[in-house]
Amino acid sequence: MKFILLLVPILFASLFGATTIVDRRPKLDVIVLDAGHGGKDAGAVGTNGYYEKQAALGIVLKLGKLIEKEMPGVKVVYTRKDDRFIELYRRGEIANEKHAKLFISVHCNSTPQKPSHATGFTTYMLRPGKTDQAIRVAARENAVISYEAERARYKELTDEDFILTSMARSQDVKYSEKFAALVQKELSKRLTIRDNGVSQAGFLVLVGAAMPNVLIETGFISNPKEEALLKSETGEMNYARGILDAIKKYKVLYERS
Ligand SMILES: [Zn+2]
Repeated sequence: MKFILLLVPILFASLFGATTIVDRRPKLDVIVLDAGHGGKDAGAVGTNGYYEKQAALGIVLKLGKLIEKEMPGVKVVYTRKDDRFIELYRRGEIANEKHAKLFISVHCNSTPQKPSHATGFTTYMLRPGKTDQAIRVAARENAVISYEAERARYKELTDEDFILTSMARSQDVKYSEKFAALVQKELSKRLTIRDNGVSQAGFLVLVGAAMPNVLIETGFISNPKEEALLKSETGEMNYARGILDAIKKYKVLYERS
């Protein structure tokens, strides 16, 4: 008798509980904002001395505040909130530990010769580099591992790695693509600099983040006009607002899936 009494609620729960209580739709509830570089790693340096690490943090802090204010129910996790050095692998690890649903890494582009007229913003996805320019950008960003003590943990990314990763994470790849396109679209509404479109390359910082992820090259810090834009309050706010609008639109897409 005792056994039957125990069985009744279990049967009831299995018949009705799963459909009435558990909501299995995906929720964009945690977003990781990753300000590139930091601490001893300044990133690229502008002709007037502004650092990429400062530009990235400025945009990320403003974006985080906007998300917290305008997107209730979305938790913001920062890989850094101040001027400190964080290893590349650790950034993805933080996102995984916090069960983030989206990882956004913010950077600035630069040219070897400064000053230069190179201009515009690009959103990158993790895939084999298609153009020489994309490969050069990834190489510059990946070179920051020279500041790290245990560089052996990173291996050269082969085409096979990309195929295996994208097969295992095909949904993430699809959503990274959707989000990247939205970032470009929304930023182009708020910025007057060139929209360089979505591109792809092997960024080490994106390898470990097991969720949809992108890396935004916000502008060329080697171009004095874009350095000034990145440095200004209005510029930072326009970048933050553009990315926020992309997140809002992405959330609708993501949660409908
Ligand atoms: Zn960078």
